[in-house]
Amino acid sequence: MGIVSENLRNIREQIKLACEKSGRNADSVRLVAVSKTKPASAVLSALAEGQGLFGENRVQEAREKIPLVAAGGDAQGRDGIEWHLIGPLQRNKVKIAVKLFAMVHSVDSVSLAQELSSRALTIRPLPILIQVNIGGEVQKNGLPPGDTIDAISQMAAFDGVQIKGLMTVPPATQDPQGARPYFKELAELAATIKRLQIPGVEMTELSMGMSHDYTVAVEEGATLVRVGSALFGSRL
Ligand SMILES: *Cc1c(COP(=O)(O)O)cnc(C)c1O
Repeated sequence: MGIVSENLRNIREQIKLACEKSGRNADSVRLVAVSKTKPASAVLSALAEGQGLFGENRVQEAREKIPLVAAGGDAQGRDGIEWHLIGPLQRNKVKIAVKLFAMVHSVDSVSLAQELSSRALTIRPLPILIQVNIGGEVQKNGLPPGDTIDAISQMAAFDGVQIKGLMTVPPATQDPQGARPYFKELAELAATIKRLQIPGVEMTELSMGMSHDYTVAVEEGATLVRVGSALFGSRL
């Protein structure tokens, strides 16, 4: 058994245990296999083990890798495959991103949502998540928590995007438990927004948790965990 399939097996088991621990249904969490910097062959190894959802953080890299994966996988795998953009999106890449990705996790401004909407409108409504800078760190992307409701209220008017939920990258902590308060806060913010019942805003997805803290994120309600190095190995 290869290392990717072994890791995948372990991660699935950890997600299942975290779901059991928190009284959640195991199929309420989807694993986003973060394949950034890794070759198409790594994606194909995961695909062969039934992993169909992948995350990339750079449009240009995804643009090169996605066709290679499509050419290398069997027909069944290709049908099931789904790519999510999890990294910052520059305005001049929006047009390509809308074609490559089934979901964009990293929408952090009203103007970016508007641009995505206008590009997606002629193709299909694009599911998006709103990235929140939950720890308020200067170096991190994402809307300040206090600006999020107002921004989402404005984005709700854009017909080309479907606002599905929130995403965050919390401040780095040594202990995975250190991320818990931030995950809780994101879940509470999503619940608050859901109660507002803004037309066109769903709040069914919470994208949070990475290699070192995804089990904590699942316990706090994550529906999408973005796991890279624990699955594909270190990127160093
Ligand atoms: C790289 C990346 C991940 C995965 O990080 P790992 O620690 O390798 O699991 C998750 N989310 C985002 C936004 C990333 O850029």
